[in-house]
Formats: sequence, C-alpha cells, structure tokens
Amino acid sequence: MKHKIAIVGFGGMAGWHYDEIQTIENLEIAGIWDIKEKQRNHAADMGLHVYEGLEDLLADKTTDLVLIATPNDVHKPVAIAAMRAGKNVISEKPVTLSSADLQEMIDVSEETGRFLTVHQNRRWDEDFMTVKKILEEGKLGELFRLESRVHGSRGIPGDWRQEKEHGGGMILDWGVHLLDQLLLLFADVPLYSVYATVTHVTNQLVDDGFYTELVFENGVSAMVEVGTSNFVSLPRWYVLGTDGTAVIEDWQLNGKIVRASGVDEKDVMPVITAAGLTKTMAPRRDDSIFTEPLPEVKSDVREFYYNVMAVLEGREESLIRLPQVMRVMKLMEAIGRSAETGEVIKLRL
Ligand code: NAD
Repeated sequence: MKHKIAIVGFGGMAGWHYDEIQTIENLEIAGIWDIKEKQRNHAADMGLHVYEGLEDLLADKTTDLVLIATPNDVHKPVAIAAMRAGKNVISEKPVTLSSADLQEMIDVSEETGRFLTVHQNRRWDEDFMTVKKILEEGKLGELFRLESRVHGSRGIPGDWRQEKEHGGGMILDWGVHLLDQLLLLFADVPLYSVYATVTHVTNQLVDDGFYTELVFENGVSAMVEVGTSNFVSLPRWYVLGTDGTAVIEDWQLNGKIVRASGVDEKDVMPVITAAGLTKTMAPRRDDSIFTEPLPEVKSDVREFYYNVMAVLEGREESLIRLPQVMRVMKLMEAIGRSAETGEVIKLRL
C-alpha cells in the first residue's frame, strides 16, 4: 500500500527525512509547507509540491500522514490540527515542551483515532544498539552503573535552539534522545530518584548542557551528560558490571569489553606513586582479564518508517510507544526541577 506524506517545516531535519524517504518503497512526499519563503522556494527547486499554507496541506485528501519538522514549540498545535483534520502524525523530537502538552496531544489522538508517533531515530544508533546487545547477552555480569554522554564544543547552534519559547536548550534537544535510550534499557524498572545540574557556559537563556544522576529501584545508577563546551570528549558509553566493563568511545564504535578471566588475583603488586602506594587501585594482572571487541550490530533507521506504515496498515504495533515518550517527558521535567532547586527528586517513574 502506498502512503503519501506531507511535511510541515522544511529546514535541516526535513532535508534528512527527504533523503530517507527517497530510499523507501511505497512512501512518497505529497508536498511541503514552511513559513519561510526561502525554504518554500528551495522545496520547489527540488521539484516538490508547495502548499499554500497549513490549511491547504491539511485539506489534501491524497495524504494520510503529516511529518512535523518545525521548531519544538510548533509541534503540538500542528499535530492537533492535523489529527483533527483526519491525518496521522509523525512529530520530530521532542514531541512537545511538557507532559501536560503531550497529554493534550494523546487525548486528541484517542478522540480522533489518529496515529501519533515521534521520530526517536536514535534508537537505531549503533552505539546504543551495541550497549543493548552487551546487556542482553549478560556479558558484564550484573549491571550496576551506566554512563552515557555526548560532548560538543561549539555551544548551541545560533537559531531557535537558543530561545526558551521555541523549546530550546540541550535537555530538550539532545537529552530527549539520551534519556529515551537509557529508559529503554530500564523498561521494566521504575526510576527512583533524579539529581541534575545544568550549564550556561555560552548561553544564559536556555541550558547549553546538563548532567543528571539517576537511581533505579533495583539499585543500578546511571549518569547522562550533554556538554557543548567540551574540547576533549569523554567516552560515549561506560558500562560497569560485576564481571566486566565496556567502553564505547565514539560514534565510530571504537571501544572494547574487558572481563575478569576468573584467575585469582591475591598477589597484587602495589602501585607506587610519587606520594604513596596502593594495592586497591593497582591495574589487573594480564592473566586475570581478557579483552574482547564490541559485539557487532546492524542498524537500518528506515525501520522507523517501515513500522509507521505497518501500523497504518494494521500489521504492527508502534515501536515508539506514547507511554515511553511520556516517561521521558516527565524525566526531563524532573531534571529541570532538580537543577532549579538543587534537590534530589524522588519519584516512581
Ligand atoms: P530548522 O530551523 O532547520 O527548520 C525548521 C523549519 O521550520 C524552518 O524552515 C522554519 O521556517 C519552519 N517553521 C517554523 N515555524 C513554522 C510553522 N509554524 N509552520 C511551518 N514551518 C515552520 O530546524 P531543524 O534542525 O530542521 O529542526 C526541526 C525539528 O527537527 C526540531 O523539532 C528538532 O528538534 C528536530 N530535529 C531532530 C533531529 C533528529 O535526529 N531526530 C535532528 C535535528 C533536528
């Protein structure tokens, strides 16, 4: 079955969707609408149909799907208008700016019977899929600590991402990806507490980075950090289990797993430093550990669209479930509250 998609907001990310859709059978672009003339002309130059406005786009009976790739504050009103006009909706991330706003969108989805989903494409990033596989295979023994970071060094891009009213800031921009990934790893384990700080190194209006410590009810702790003034990047993932440690350095998947071989290590040679000696912090003897490459994973981000089409045809359940999206939204709110008050937020999420 063929699906036609109409795109609202034809900026940077819409270009990415355009390229993706060209490679997907049974999906084609019906047309676009953007408030900027420059972007409309750009689309027309690419041979795309340009609607006369949002109403014109929503009145197009040939489309069953609307993709919203506008700044974050515009997702909700367009999504609601689209669902009321009988369209199914893919919203770019973050779906909206608050859990109350998301609830309104979910209510309209239920009331109209239209499908609402969110482009959480980084579920298909290979670094995340690798961590998931390591944990599923139980390679590290019992997990007790996980760290997930992304670091840039140029501050926030100088567009709407710097403006609070448009849903700017790094919690909403990158946090939404990293927290979505993390919570998927703890799908059945309630989150117990949240502590967070934000940075304002380059920007006073919105956070240009954040750090959060999460504790789950099973005692596992996790750290998520987004930085935009980091000229030296720390590893993308650092995963600690009782029998081993995994590190994924970057998106090129440099990294390794180091595991205990089971050989006894009673006779540890102390490390002598300039000012003392330590056995506790001495490195492992070579025969007591072994190093493995990271497991291989295969990713195809087009699965997102294949799944959307399958949902519309009644063949599959949505991979991106709205309760998951709501959980992430509530966590981002708790991060904001903790950063503002300096307090640990206790919750059962
Ligand atoms: P952008 O500024 O490049 O593009 C946004 C476009 O929306 C602009 O062309 C603007 O004119 C248009 N627009 C603004 N208000 C509009 C309205 N009311 N109606 C129609 N068009 C309107 O921004 P971007 O980088 O493309 O980001 C767009 C969305 O995509 C954001 O929600 C962002 O978070 C998301 N995004 C997602 C990813 C991802 O990996 N999933 C990556 C980048 C951006």
